[in-house]
Amino acid sequence: MSFPKPHPHRALKRPAAQVTLEARARIRRQVIARDQCRCVVCRGPVSYEGAHVHEAVFRSQGGNPVDPTGAGMVTLCPSCHQLVHHRVIRITLTPEGAVEVTPWTDKTSR
Ligand SMILES: [Zn+2]
Repeated sequence: MSFPKPHPHRALKRPAAQVTLEARARIRRQVIARDQCRCVVCRGPVSYEGAHVHEAVFRSQGGNPVDPTGAGMVTLCPSCHQLVHHRVIRITLTPEGAVEVTPWTDKTSR
């Protein structure tokens, strides 16, 4: 079984080392529970083991992968997570925290 390589920009900045694996696991469970064990894109059910927790807010825009509330993170199934990282769809959060899914091609200019 092979997994996609992490994006290069993910390898650059690691969160501070003092964040324990337990804390990360807790945040992960919290995000999945908040999203009711469903992928926020396709609404398909995911298990705690199989869910992918995705950072929907870029760290450059204030996203914090170790925010204890799990703000800025969403639950995805493996298939939808692939679509996000292959730039097929894009997930953004409204200021109120609602999830918006848009085709990547909507806003390609940068
Ligand atoms: Zn999905």
